[in-house]
Amino acid sequence: MNSAYLGLGSNLGDRAAHLHFALEALQPRRVSPFYETAPVGFLDQDAFLNCVCEIETALSPWALLRELHRLENLRERQRPFPNAPRTLDLDILLYSNTVIRSPRLTIPHPRLAERAFVLAPLADLVPAYRPLLDRLSGQQVQRLDATAAGPFAPPSPR
Ligand code: AMP
Repeated sequence: MNSAYLGLGSNLGDRAAHLHFALEALQPRRVSPFYETAPVGFLDQDAFLNCVCEIETALSPWALLRELHRLENLRERQRPFPNAPRTLDLDILLYSNTVIRSPRLTIPHPRLAERAFVLAPLADLVPAYRPLLDRLSGQQVQRLDATAAGPFAPPSPR
């Protein structure tokens, strides 16, 4: 088994329902609080709901990527243009100590260190990332109440 950290995001439709759907499917070991975050890149769109989860998986990084795309497609994810609003976005941030540099899959995620919406929830689970987050300024992220995570209750650590 390998451990991986995944970034989840949504800014279209019932954002919390999309994230809960992915968390139910992924059965993570741990889930960060949810964050409301300002869009990055294409700014003229609604705010995102983001979180990070830690999973244990027997899937290879490539098989995991296919599974994440399958889950995105189940939420009718459309890709009309880069950074478009999305029902569900699932990214592999880290996969054990694996490094992959290919056009279709880059691990660690190439923009991990520049995005407060990834680093803030990641640092909640892995405090060693806090200094990278503290370097960033001007990106709006707001941690929500624990209750914002709704009815989903992650399994207790094994
Ligand atoms: P999008 O879903 O629009 O954010 O784009 C995802 C695309 O980025 C996918 O088609 C992947 O092939 C590629 N990609 C590269 N590295 C990663 C990663 N670490 N996690 C998820 N997608 C990745």
